[in-house]
Amino acid sequence: MKTNSADIEVAIALPIDGTFTYSVPEHLFPFISVGKRVLVPFGRRRITGYVLGPGENADGYENKLILDIPDETPLFPKSAIPFFRWIADYYMYPIGEVIRSALPGGLNIRDFMTVAITDAGQDALAGNELSPLRREVLTHLAHQGPCPQKSLSKSLNREVSHALIRTLEGLGWVLITRELSRGNTRSKTERHVALIRSDIPEDRFHASRKAILDALASHDGELSVHQLKAQVPKAGGYLKFLADSGYISIFTKKVYRDPFGESIAPDEPPTLAEAQRTVVSAIMDAMGKGFASYLLAGVTGSGKTEVYLRLTAEVIGQGKSVLVLVPEISLISQMERRFRARFGENIAVLHSGLSPGERYDQWTRIVNHEVQVAIGARSAIFAPFDDIGMIIVDEEHDTSYKQESELLYNARDIAVVRAKQAGGIAVLGSATPSIQSCYNVVTKKFTEVTLKERVRKRPLPEIRIVDLRKNRDEQGIRQFITADLYAAMKETLARKEQILIFLNRRGFAEFPVCAACGDPVGCKNCDVTLTLHQTDNAYKCHYCGFTLPSASRCPTCDSSSIKLLGFGTEKVEKAIRSLFPSASVARMDRDTTARKGAILGILKDIRNHRTDILVGTQMVAKGHDFPNITLVGIICADLSLCFPDFRAGERTFQLLAQVAGRAGRGERPGRVILQTYNPQHFSIASARDQDFRAFYEGEIAFRKALLYPPFSRMIQLKISGKDKARTRELALALGDACKALLKREKGFSDAVQILGPAEASLFKIAKRYRWQILLKGANSGVLHQFVRQAMAENPAIFKHRNVKVAADVDPLGMF
Ligand code: ADP
Ligand code: ZN
Ligand code: ZN
Repeated sequence: MKTNSADIEVAIALPIDGTFTYSVPEHLFPFISVGKRVLVPFGRRRITGYVLGPGENADGYENKLILDIPDETPLFPKSAIPFFRWIADYYMYPIGEVIRSALPGGLNIRDFMTVAITDAGQDALAGNELSPLRREVLTHLAHQGPCPQKSLSKSLNREVSHALIRTLEGLGWVLITRELSRGNTRSKTERHVALIRSDIPEDRFHASRKAILDALASHDGELSVHQLKAQVPKAGGYLKFLADSGYISIFTKKVYRDPFGESIAPDEPPTLAEAQRTVVSAIMDAMGKGFASYLLAGVTGSGKTEVYLRLTAEVIGQGKSVLVLVPEISLISQMERRFRARFGENIAVLHSGLSPGERYDQWTRIVNHEVQVAIGARSAIFAPFDDIGMIIVDEEHDTSYKQESELLYNARDIAVVRAKQAGGIAVLGSATPSIQSCYNVVTKKFTEVTLKERVRKRPLPEIRIVDLRKNRDEQGIRQFITADLYAAMKETLARKEQILIFLNRRGFAEFPVCAACGDPVGCKNCDVTLTLHQTDNAYKCHYCGFTLPSASRCPTCDSSSIKLLGFGTEKVEKAIRSLFPSASVARMDRDTTARKGAILGILKDIRNHRTDILVGTQMVAKGHDFPNITLVGIICADLSLCFPDFRAGERTFQLLAQVAGRAGRGERPGRVILQTYNPQHFSIASARDQDFRAFYEGEIAFRKALLYPPFSRMIQLKISGKDKARTRELALALGDACKALLKREKGFSDAVQILGPAEASLFKIAKRYRWQILLKGANSGVLHQFVRQAMAENPAIFKHRNVKVAADVDPLGMF
């Protein structure tokens, strides 16, 4: 075995395991480095690969040569490679595909580059020393003027490599300009006016001039010219005189804009409350001493974000970078606003709402060490910092951290891995921490720090539970807008305060609930709710396949009145409009927010009180801070409780406690009306008390008894295909293969449990039929080994042309 500097290890962006060795031809030596993409021959194709480092080469074997290096600067640092390798291994996903998923889309910098010929290039063209290809490129540029690089190959009808263009640039014959949108930093300068003295003489201009000076005085002596003109429309004509005579000074100042287009004033850090100070110093004491993880459990409105800001200031003060993960785009805007007010331009923002150019721009700002802080949604965990000091995961319990397509990772979990690899600190914050994270505190993997009270001792909202069973004889929507809720809404509107109406409608299925006793109809094996499969006239368990005819009576109380819960936000919105015709009502759910920018529009209307009542799904439950919302109505808490998933109780607790936390964040106290069929359920009772510890104590016993995570690990095999019969056949075959493997290998039979194959609870989505096999075991290593072996032994199933089989490690929710 020899290592040669000209040999490199390349990960290929294809579903192929392992990495490959290629050689670098001499003319590309100057451009090669770890973290860049390379164009390589692969079989008969030319494919993108990623340079991981020097390659190892078996003696006597001739490597293929790389063809081109499209990147100017590396796309990721060397320190990210162990992270990619870890992910590839743990999530059983090809490393090249891991890297492809990690990099922001639209990365192709050729898309942004324009090439123009220089005078020296013209001179070269006039001589006759040029190779034919160089001559062709220069001639084209001389005739056409500056061209986008990506169009060159097409115009000349032959491959014009990036390396060639860069060689020409090196010779001084062409000039490359990069057309990137810098729009997203959202900073610009604005003229400001500051008051110096206000003893203006009483001449004929006195009134107007005095008005300007007074306006400044009443705004702490400073306004932007823009704001000033809004207050004193004629101000423009007097400013020069006032400045020249020493009454005011005019200067330019950098201002930042939030995603609403409003300018963000730099803020002064407030004095921390005692509890906040304790948390910050506990975490900062661990800084620089290697890896540590903290769970920051703080009730809604307790000042967690202020803690993040303070930690960030300290960490970047030590020269390290900070990564802040937020579950959803709509929350990023809020977080971004507060971080920009504190750190100005030292921030990159990464999320799917950016255009490809903006994303590339943000990415390169991180690579080039222009910023020390990145804020983003789950994929920001891949931000190319190479000096991470801290990773903050806000609302760590949120299921949006789990990516549910292609690379099935959980950003919350890999945040801890990345912090560990960097020797930094992970801070996971939530008002409703996940059972997993609470358990990690119990097993001492995490250290818990807490904020038990709201800032300035504001009270938590008062939560009143309304029993929906008393309402079951009402007709239509009045079953769900109870008299209590109706009265509270009326009062709130009369006080000119705002209302949030929450309905958790996820998925498209309907879940059976007994209208008499309130129990969801569950599986006798799995303790999850059954799902109605209309075509079979049966309720089915999507874990184990247990089936109950749909004509069955309630297993708990033998009542025959089983109801299907499944109405949506649209219906509720309509009902509210007719009940409160003069109120302005808006709806926020997946349907109303599909358009880019729609979420911001809805949020802006609430902030400016153009909306009185917002109806929404779990999207509205998350961390928003709207001080004028004083009433939260939860239409039917049970919808999430009935979800066919062992985490249904956890989700319910989190959702309810979070949505309740939206009430009364401002000066006025909030209240919550929580309607339910299960008032006695501990998920609901502990949400009412905002008591995650009580919930944990109740839930953990149940997890232990049924050996659900965190007492076991799971891998779910997801089988889906368009052909119903084919998909079923393959799912059953895979089930048999797994069972046979389990029987054959002693090491597996005691350690792995197979549930299914079963139809997924949402059996058909987007024309695909879905099946699943759930594998459960105490040991994650053994479980992985089991799946790897199953994959190796059944290539015909795992690599099937028409039916897709994916392994979901640590699955969340339902398939
Ligand atoms: P959380 O993230 O826990 O929901 P926030 O950090 O958003 O809480 O704090 C809630 C409100 O209290 C915000 O408006 C914030 O600006 C304010 N706040 C936080 N810490 C302080 C403090 N030490 N002094 C004054 N106000 C604070
Ligand atoms: Zn019943
Ligand atoms: Zn079952």
